[in-house]
Order: sequence, then C-alpha cells, then structure tokens
Amino acid sequence: MIVSDTHANWHALEAVLAHAEGRFDQIVCCGDLVGYNAQPARVVEWTRANSAHTIRGNHDKVVAGLESLDWFNDIAQSAARWTIHQLTRCQIEYLRELQKGPLHLEEFHMWHGSPRDEDEYITNAREAAPCFSYFVLPLAFFGHTHLQGGFFSRHGRIGVIPAVRKGRDEAVIELQPDTLYLVNPGSVGQPRDGDARAAYAVYDSRQRIVTLRRVEYPVQQSAQEIRQAHLPDVLAFRLFQGL
Ligand code: ZN
Repeated sequence: MIVSDTHANWHALEAVLAHAEGRFDQIVCCGDLVGYNAQPARVVEWTRANSAHTIRGNHDKVVAGLESLDWFNDIAQSAARWTIHQLTRCQIEYLRELQKGPLHLEEFHMWHGSPRDEDEYITNAREAAPCFSYFVLPLAFFGHTHLQGGFFSRHGRIGVIPAVRKGRDEAVIELQPDTLYLVNPGSVGQPRDGDARAAYAVYDSRQRIVTLRRVEYPVQQSAQEIRQAHLPDVLAFRLFQGL
C-alpha cells in the first residue's frame, strides 16, 4: 500500500486503513506526514510504527528544522509553527532522520517531488518527461502535488494516468511491458484534485497491477479539529472542496 501527503489528517488515514482491509503486505509512504491538519503526533507515530519505507516531504523537512519556514506561504508557515509545538523532541528527531528521496526499492522507486528535487511539482506531461531518465525499474511512486494519477512513457511518448473517477472507488492500471509508470497515489490528508475523498494506491507486484483508490472520510471531524486548534480556517474549508 502506498500512501502520501497524509498531512496530519488522522481521520483520513483511518478511513484509508479501513478501506484497504489489510490486503497488503507492506506500507510505504512518499512523505509529508505533517502540516495543514491537526493530528501530527498521531500520524507521525502511526507512520513510524507501520510504514516499512518512508521518505521525507518538504513539510517534514521544515518541521524538523532542516529548512527555513520562509519558503512556505503564510498558511503553511503558521501550520508548520503550530505543528512543531505539537510534537515531542523524539518525534521531531524521527522527521529529521527520514531519508531523502529518491529511494530505490526492489520493485519500484519512490520520491516526494521529482527524482532531482524533492520540492519540484510534477503536474503535467512536460514536467514528467525528464523524470523517466532516472528510471531503472519500470515503476515509481511520488507525491507532493496532491493530485492522484500520474504519467506513463512508452517508446518516448508520454501519456496521462487519470485519478479515480467520481462515483467509483478505484481505478486499475495493468502495467504493460516496455512502459514506464510514474504514479501518484494522491494525498491521504489534503486532496487537491477536486475530489475530497482520501486517496491512496496499492501495488500488486505479482500481478503487476497498480490500483488507485478513493475513500470517503469524516471531513467534518478533521475540519472541526483544525478550527479547535486555531489553525487557519481555509485549511478546514479546503478539505470539503478537495482543492
Ligand atoms: Zn504535501
């Protein structure tokens, strides 16, 4: 199971886990455990206990003190500042020690933004094109954009992998020979592709199938916790829009 951009949204993560029903051997995480939502400690602890491979995201880096807050907009900055005070020294240390992508596993690559820059957004085929030169294996997972789907490259042509359609809860990608796949599982905790449902993916290495999934979660509860924490109200509002 591949999760990314959980962003301290515990209720979304819980819904994802219930939806997956334990039908996976291992969990990996493409970064951004914290920021934006109100349950950073819980999400960090869960990730530490359950994710076999976790790479850091830009929010993890800032909260861990590895990068200046100045790179963030005002809203992300105030969420990051709040987050720092919610975590124990031990949890901050865990974030600080997360490895930087790209990470090369047996079956696929993982990175947060792009293979050359963990902070780079890959949102279209033009931006995706240079990533494929880093592929040794035919499959990679990434995050950062909070947009589920991704890109494939076949004989030098780049195609788009769409997100799960509204009204469906999964989309199956059967991996083809001679094709490279750059897949974003979507964001668990703050989707931005116009679908408010939590997003994740499962890769079946035996059948060579990637399944993108979406699941409803109690958005109201996460939004309420954001407001109770006095985090910027827009962070609550955008969860309902999925933007
Ligand atoms: Zn993120």
